[in-house]
Amino acid sequence: MGRNTGRFWQKTIGRKQESIIENQIQETMSTIIYPSPIFGPVKSRRLGISLGINLLPADGKVCTFDCIYCECGLNATRKAKSAMPTREEVAKALEKKLEEMRSSGEQPDVLTFAGNGEPTIHPHFGEIIDDTIDLRDRLCPSAKVSVLTNATLITRDKVFEALKKVDNNILKLDTINTGYISIVDRPTGKYDLDAIIERMKAFEGRAVIQTMFLKGELDGRNIDNTGDSFVAPWINAIKEIAPREVMIYTIDRETPVKGLQKASREELDRIIGLLGKEGIKASASY
Ligand code: SF4
Repeated sequence: MGRNTGRFWQKTIGRKQESIIENQIQETMSTIIYPSPIFGPVKSRRLGISLGINLLPADGKVCTFDCIYCECGLNATRKAKSAMPTREEVAKALEKKLEEMRSSGEQPDVLTFAGNGEPTIHPHFGEIIDDTIDLRDRLCPSAKVSVLTNATLITRDKVFEALKKVDNNILKLDTINTGYISIVDRPTGKYDLDAIIERMKAFEGRAVIQTMFLKGELDGRNIDNTGDSFVAPWINAIKEIAPREVMIYTIDRETPVKGLQKASREELDRIIGLLGKEGIKASASY
């Protein structure tokens, strides 16, 4: 299937990414680098008590995207020096934390793979999902297992099979405009949108799609993806993928690149309404 690159965005493709944004990088931003391999629990209205599992190093970020809005900062300025935790370290730390929580009478509602980058990058992601499901079944059987992923690696069979086992497989798809993806999400390697969408479809209605809507300027260009030129083709792709649910959100914290703005409540509600008309379950975080 052909995807919309857009001539407007095409002009930017091929230019060195850092040269596009160098005037807009905010050195002073307060980035969040999470402890590893376990952080939290964090209480949220939507998820309840969420215990975080961070498969990336504790001192920096590792991601196959380099989003201009990333709360962890940009890849170049948040390089990790230490290694990712091993499978054994993750299992041991998770078991210890779940036992502590159990003895204090607190149970997590969800075990969430998130943190300093892309969890599926971990070479033992699949085995760690198996260990986590075993620990969940033993120590907190009512908790869900969620993975927040940018979906770049779902074309790998091992990653795909592991994601099929979790309760909430939350896949990022900010737009289907590949020019926009190249300057806003900024894949660090080869990015084949058609192959990724085919794999999203192969979850057969069990995946959740998560989409960032934002506004503002980048290199003098308007990067508002809330208008119909972005939203209409994105909804067509969502219909093809037929996810269980769509979660849309906007910028919530300081971003590493200046000039970005939140999408308004009205804009997000309009998109929720359009998804609703197509019979797609959707929610927004404002
Ligand atoms: S995919 Fe997530 S962790 Fe990676 S750069 Fe984008 S926002 Fe940051």
